[in-house]
Amino acid sequence: MTKRAYNFNAGPAALPLEVLERAQKEFVDYQGNGMSIMEMSHRGAVYEAVHNEAQQRLLSLLGNPEGYKVLFLQGGASTQFAMLPLNLLGEGQVASYVATGSWADKAISEAKLIGEAHVAASSEAQDFMQIPALEDIQIPDNAAYLHVTSNETIGGIQYKEFPDTGNVPLIVDMSSDILSRPLDMSQFGMIYAGAQKNLGPSGVTVVVAREELLANSPKSIPTIMRYSTYLKNNSLYNTPPSFAIYMVNEVLKWIEEQGGLEGVARNNERKAALIYDAIDQSGGFYKGAAEVSSRSNMNITFRLSSEELDKAFAKASEQAGFVGLKGHRSVGGLRASIYNAVPYESCEALVEFMKDFQAKNS
Ligand code: PMP
Repeated sequence: MTKRAYNFNAGPAALPLEVLERAQKEFVDYQGNGMSIMEMSHRGAVYEAVHNEAQQRLLSLLGNPEGYKVLFLQGGASTQFAMLPLNLLGEGQVASYVATGSWADKAISEAKLIGEAHVAASSEAQDFMQIPALEDIQIPDNAAYLHVTSNETIGGIQYKEFPDTGNVPLIVDMSSDILSRPLDMSQFGMIYAGAQKNLGPSGVTVVVAREELLANSPKSIPTIMRYSTYLKNNSLYNTPPSFAIYMVNEVLKWIEEQGGLEGVARNNERKAALIYDAIDQSGGFYKGAAEVSSRSNMNITFRLSSEELDKAFAKASEQAGFVGLKGHRSVGGLRASIYNAVPYESCEALVEFMKDFQAKNS
């Protein structure tokens, strides 16, 4: 049997073993076509069926919200930081953002290059260790949209609820928690995510949005940067990342098999509770980095009593077969990323390791 690592990578991250095995079976000869899906024309019926199926499955998992479309793009969520204001920030409008950490900041920086960006609320004073209170979010009248980052992958903080933005479209970077819990899509104008955490391999970026937000891109921006180009051409204007999209379709099937978003959310709650409980019951040996009410179920950030001990933990964990527990280089500490595909057993093994490390080092 294949030995799988305890993979807590932040992204690219663990994929479901069942999906990898299915893909392996189809790798050389996709369903009797004598070639892999990577070797087929993206204009052919076989690939197009996969492409359309992935879109349908995604919408279905999101509750088939009326009037929403799925786009497949490239360039990661980072490209969306620029495409969003390029497409939706009109004359006389401001792009409004909630500043919650590194990823929100990158989105704001790009918007500033394109037009006027506004910070609707910020948790900088709390070192970005919590989500601002929703009632503190101030949206200007001339906002083109409000942008939030549903899960800050580096800090390990996550929105539990989203602000009511009225007529202003709410746009969400869901790169690190998309499809991790049930969502009422009608509250969002647009959500987007790089695939490499909860959706599949890197290489494809998914946008789900109300059609009217995608249909009216300005003609002054390059064709390939317009949402309308992808909308009109069913994301087949140019060659799509076909293998990554095939993998996303397989991951979406797997999510259906887990009981859909309710099913994965239950598992995610259990996994996160297991690790947070271990932190909280360690008598202060481990300290959660995020403020408790903002704790992420995807990225668990924690520290020990000194940087030396953090380092020793990271090193010992690697020796014990754990991958990816070192915190992001910008903040240090430790981080366990437990996306949908990280098995409960990996979390149990981590908790055992944490207890053992504490016993040996206190
Ligand atoms: N937003 C968030 C919340 C992220 O976690 C990441 C990647 N870690 C990005 C944006 C950037 O994504 P990409 O690397 O796909 O451009």
